[in-house]
Amino acid sequence: MKRNNKDKQDCVIPEDFTGHKVIELLEEVGLEIREDEFVSLVSKKLNGNPFALLVAIILSQNTTDKAAIYAYTRLHKLLRGNITPDRMIELGPELIELPIRPAGLSGQKSKWIVEVAKRIKELGGEKILVELPPEELRKILKKMPGIGKKTLDVFLSQMRGEQVFAVDTHAKRIAQRWCLTNSSNYKEISLKLTEFFQGEDLVRAHKLVIALGRKWCTARNPKCRECPLREICPYAVRRLSSTTKRGKNTGQNKK
Ligand code: SF4
Repeated sequence: MKRNNKDKQDCVIPEDFTGHKVIELLEEVGLEIREDEFVSLVSKKLNGNPFALLVAIILSQNTTDKAAIYAYTRLHKLLRGNITPDRMIELGPELIELPIRPAGLSGQKSKWIVEVAKRIKELGGEKILVELPPEELRKILKKMPGIGKKTLDVFLSQMRGEQVFAVDTHAKRIAQRWCLTNSSNYKEISLKLTEFFQGEDLVRAHKLVIALGRKWCTARNPKCRECPLREICPYAVRRLSSTTKRGKNTGQNKK
C-alpha cells in the first residue's frame, strides 16, 4: 500500500501495520503508562473530581506533563485537596497564580481557571461535567476561556470515556511519521488516529502513543532500532532500508 506524506516521499505501509498490531507490540514489551507521568492521571488519583481534572488539563497547556504535575500538586497542597469551583472563585486569580507558576503562562491560566469556575457554577456546578450529554457539554465548554480542542478531547476521554483521540505534540509527530496524514490540522490528525485505532480503547491507545513518543519516537533522532515497532512502522522501514542501502553502496565503493 502506498500513500504520500507531507514531504512527498512515498509511504510504503506494511500490510500488518494496524492499530491493533501497534498496541499488541507495545504491550508485549510492557511499555509503561506510569500514573505519575500524566497530569490527568495524577489529578484523578489525588482528587478524582471532574473540575480538578479540567484544571489539571488547563495547566498542561503549552508545557510538559512534568511541569504541569509540579504546578498541580502545589495547588493541591495549598488547597488541601479542595480543588473546586467555589474555592477557585474564593481565591481569585492572584492567589492561584503563584502555586501554578511552574506550568508557565500562570497569569493567563489563573484567570482562565477562575472564569471557568464561575461559569460552571452559574450553569449548575460541577455536576454538569458528569451529567450533561457529552455533545452538549462539548458545546458549553468550548465557549469557555482556555478550553481548546485538545483540552476538550483530553477531558471528555478521561472523564467520560469518550472515544476521541486527543492530539498533542507526540501524537501529531507520530501520525505524520506513520504516514496517516500530512496535515497539521488538529481535527484531521485526530480523525486519522481514531480511524487507525478503530476497535481499540482510544483512551489507552492515546496514552501508549504518548509513552512511545517519550521513550523511542522522540522529536529528534527517533530510536527506531530499539523501537518494538521497527519491523512494521512506515518511517522505520523507509529509514532503515535506506541506511542499509547506503551502507551497501559505501561498501561497494570501497571495493
Ligand atoms: S520505529 Fe521509529 S519512527 Fe516508528 S514509531 Fe518507532 S521510533 Fe517512531
